[in-house]
Parts: sequence; C-alpha cells; structure tokens
Amino acid sequence: MVAAVAAARQGAQVLLIESQGCLGGSRTAAGVDTFYGFYTPGELPRRIVGGIPWEIVERLQAAGACFERPNTYGAGTGVTYDVEQLKLVYESIVLETGASLLFHTFACQVHTESETIERVVLANKGGLTEVSAQCYIDATGDADISARAGVAFEKRDSEQLQSLTTIFFLANVDVAKAKQTKHDRLVDKMKEANRTGNYHLPREDGSWHVTPHPGIIQANMVRVSGVDATDPFALTLAEVEGRKQTQEYIRFLRENVEGFEQACLISTSQHIGVRETRRIVGEVVLTEDDVLQARKFPDGIAYCGAPVEEHHAGKETRWAYVQGDGVYHIPYRTLVPKQVNNLIAAGRCLSATPGALASVRNSAQCMAMGQAAGVAAAICANEKTMFRELDIGRLQAILTEQGAIL
Ligand SMILES: Cc1cc2nc3c(=O)[nH]c(=O)nc-3n(C[C@H](O)[C@H](O)[C@H](O)COP(=O)(O)OP(=O)(O)OC[C@H]3O[C@@H](n4cnc5c(N)ncnc54)[C@H](O)[C@@H]3O)c2cc1C
Repeated sequence: MVAAVAAARQGAQVLLIESQGCLGGSRTAAGVDTFYGFYTPGELPRRIVGGIPWEIVERLQAAGACFERPNTYGAGTGVTYDVEQLKLVYESIVLETGASLLFHTFACQVHTESETIERVVLANKGGLTEVSAQCYIDATGDADISARAGVAFEKRDSEQLQSLTTIFFLANVDVAKAKQTKHDRLVDKMKEANRTGNYHLPREDGSWHVTPHPGIIQANMVRVSGVDATDPFALTLAEVEGRKQTQEYIRFLRENVEGFEQACLISTSQHIGVRETRRIVGEVVLTEDDVLQARKFPDGIAYCGAPVEEHHAGKETRWAYVQGDGVYHIPYRTLVPKQVNNLIAAGRCLSATPGALASVRNSAQCMAMGQAAGVAAAICANEKTMFRELDIGRLQAILTEQGAIL
C-alpha cells in the first residue's frame, strides 16, 4: 500500500491489487493494532522512521485515533491505533494519489519471459484477468509474485517457521483492575493454569494491551505452530485452531485474571497473523549478525532498531537486542531479487535470514521498505531501467526529500 502511494506520487500509473477487502494486511486484517519500529527500544527512544509511514501516523493522530505506548514487553515505544480508522487512512491516502485500487483480487499466476515479467493473472469475481506493467512490486508478505516469477526463495520447514497468531479483541474489561496483574504475574498464572491440566494454553508469555477505546483490549496470546501458511489446507486448519485457542484464552482470562470476569469477545482477526513464510533471495541477504552488530550499508533505505523477536514453537519467545548505536540499515539490495529484472519486493518477504526477519518485519520497517520500492519502481518504469541498475544515490536523495530517515 505504501509502495503504491510512493510510486503514484512519483508520477507512475499504479494498480494496487489486494486479496482482502481492506488495505493494510497484518496491520488491519490480522488485527495488529500497534506499529512497532518507529522508535528504538531502551531508556531514550529515538524515532528512526519518517516519510509516508510517519505521515500515516500523523493522519491517525489528526483523527484522534492513535496514541503512543511506552516501551512494553521489550519491543520499544509503540503507536497503538484504531484498526478501522487505519483502514480509512490507508484508503484515502491511496485514492488521493490517483492510483487504481482492486480489492478481493488475488494475483495468482505470473508469466515471465527472458527474466522479465510479461503479465500477471488476477482472480476475482470477474473471473481471470491478465494485467501487464513495466514494473511489479511484490508486497504480498509471502513472496507470491516472486515465487511464481521464478525468483529463488527460502522457506524453513513448517516446524521451524515462526508461529501464527489469531489476534482477538475483548470488550467489557475492567482495565484498571486488569492492569494490577503485571505481565510477569500473568505469565505465572498461565503456567499455573497449564500445570492444573484444566487448560491448554500453547503460549505462556502472550500479552494484552489497551486500545483507544475504554474497556476494549487487544490480546496477542494464541500460538499456532508448525504451519506453512503458503499451504492453503494448512492455513485453513490454522484459522480453525486459532479461533479454538481464542476461546480457551478467554476462558482462562475470565476465570483467572481479575478485571476480565465480564469480558466478551468482539472479534477475532479476519485473517490469522502470519509472521514468516517465503523470503526472496536478493542481491544481499540481511543476517542476524548485521542486525545485532548494528551494521550500516551504503545502500541503506531505512533504519531498524527493533529487537529480534522470534515466536518459535514452544511456550516462550526468543529476544535479542541490537548492539552499538542501536540501529542497523535495511539495504536496498535486500529488496532486489537475484533473478527477474522488473520486480522488487517490500515487507516481510525481503531477502533476510530467519533471525534477521524476526527483527526487520516490524510494521514501520515494512512500510519504509514499501516507500523505497515504490519510488524505485517509478524511476525504473520511467527510465526503463532494471532495479539492480538503479542509481542508489538518486533513490536515497528522493527518499530523504520525502522525509525518510536514512
Ligand atoms: C500476530 C502478529 C502480531 C504482530 N504484532 C506486531 C506489532 O505489534 N507491531 C508491529 O509493528 N508488527 C507486528 N507484527 C509484524 C507486522 O505486522 C508484519 O510483519 C508486517 O505488517 C508485514 O507487512 P507486509 O506488508 O510485508 O505483509 P502483510 O501484512 O502480510 O501484507 C501482505 C498483503 O498482501 C496481500 N496479499 C497476499 N498475497 C496476495 C496475493 N497473491 N494477491 C493479492 N494480495 C495478496 C495480503 O492480503 C496483505 O494485505 C505482527 C505480526 C503478526 C503476524
């Protein structure tokens, strides 16, 4: 979505294809209601992402639809927003640019000739349609376009992939009372509950937080492990399992945590949250060492200071923090696939090792990658240049003019 805005603002003619009925992916459809990654974690948070992603925050602020939540559970200051308002902000910012928008449409097939995408087949209520463009941006999270175009990609075995989560929202929570059970105590209560044998809670360190609405909280507790979300049958079973676990966590909260006695379920995410599937093999692969050593690159297009937060199978989550000055660069070359000339990736399908992905996949960084990919696509389409031949200095200059922090 940010890629489409960035490309359209550079004068490109853009068609934005979205399989859901709203924009935002995980940030809306999966119920994630907090942007992490704008700020570094730690005692003195610094804002390290600007540009279009920050413009989105400003629009939410103007609508009174977000607030900053200080460093909780180690991820750094978050910007918690009203998901429905974010859908409206995304729609208005896209449509203002003149870009065309197509909901409920799957990009399902890609025709490539001589390392160049010739056309993409779309499936929707109108049947199958082919579209053709000068440049393509793969922001599908799962690298769908890249994989179908023949780009090399990596994907761990399903047992190793980060787990999936159905996020749920509860109303009628006595938040003041609920906050008296601190996170550590909540974790202990989950462990105790599992030990009784009366509950089955696959994750014991999940959390909940307040939303912009009184008495309504968002919970990130469910853990569905061992699922490859690019396998349609496995994804379907994960949705079923996620909703089942949601009921179990609500039972646990109502029966064990003060303030939740009268809680009622408002919604589960319309799409289960997927953290990790395919990652393209790009011109450069971002590694966990690059992340932890706070490495900088000459072709940096954004910063990230978010810790490695790996939701592996099992009851806990692995955390590791960026050292040095606390931020590393996301290199442009991690967005450029090794094969295929007119394709660029953005978001969690970038070229990164699993450990690096567990840091760089935060919302602010995914949106910042989108801005870089969109500007790059507009330049390449206009000048009929390949992404890997782009003048990086020029891209960086445009991004800086647009308020991006490099
Ligand atoms: C449970 C969970 C909790 C998280 N919590 C946080 C958090 O608190 N803060 C934070 O900053 N980050 C969080 N993250 C991480 C972050 O939300 C994601 O990593 C990030 O949003 C990924 O963005 P993306 O745009 O790359 O991919 P996605 O958000 O997955 O978006 C991909 C988009 O492409 C569409 N699409 C996919 N395939 C196709 C296709 N073939 N054709 C057409 N459209 C397609 C999808 O519908 C979707 O809109 C969380 C992630 C999960 C799963």
